[in-house]
Amino acid sequence: MKLIFATGNQHKLKEILSIAPAGFEILGLKDIGFTEELPETQNTIEGNSLQKAEYLANKFGIACFSEDTGLEINALDGEPGVYSARYAGAKATYDDNTDMVLQKMKGEADRSARFKTVITYHADGKYVQFEGITEGMILNERKGSQGFGYDPIFMPMGADKTYAEMTLDEKNGFSHRKKSFELFANHLATIAVLK
Ligand code: IMP
Repeated sequence: MKLIFATGNQHKLKEILSIAPAGFEILGLKDIGFTEELPETQNTIEGNSLQKAEYLANKFGIACFSEDTGLEINALDGEPGVYSARYAGAKATYDDNTDMVLQKMKGEADRSARFKTVITYHADGKYVQFEGITEGMILNERKGSQGFGYDPIFMPMGADKTYAEMTLDEKNGFSHRKKSFELFANHLATIAVLK
């Protein structure tokens, strides 16, 4: 089955390709020659996820899926959340955003946080969403150099290292993205059986 993944983020594409079961051919936006930035102007992770999939589906009339992810920190009332990509400003880098979190969390005793991914599958004018959540904690400083985004400061519950200290396979053992994708893949498998 061929699926378009509505993302220009090569880190996310790499992770999804590493967990897609046999029989799925997944293409990123670069693979189909689409280089525009997708709109992400909603104020929820669910809303942004839907907006990206809907935009692409309407523009090309194709089935596709998208995902939106946020880091929700309890001591910061759920921030950065939907603003995870631009927490330190519109042009912020992964490092800038991570520095902002570390600064805001300085001296904070409650380090609990979660990553939340919402995948939207858009086909035939309808859509369905799948959520994956991984609980964990925010460290006081960066550890590790793998992965992307906030990986160096996030240690999932049950692990003794950060996402950035893990191989891709190890991260997949805990990953919010993998949990949501598994639900999505099960949905597609069910549809295939019913057809
Ligand atoms: P978006 O879903 O593209 O809006 O991504 C939001 C931001 O969350 C990204 O820019 C990253 O900084 C961060 N992010 C998303 N997924 C992950 C992940 O798996 N690990 C660490 N940071 C992530």
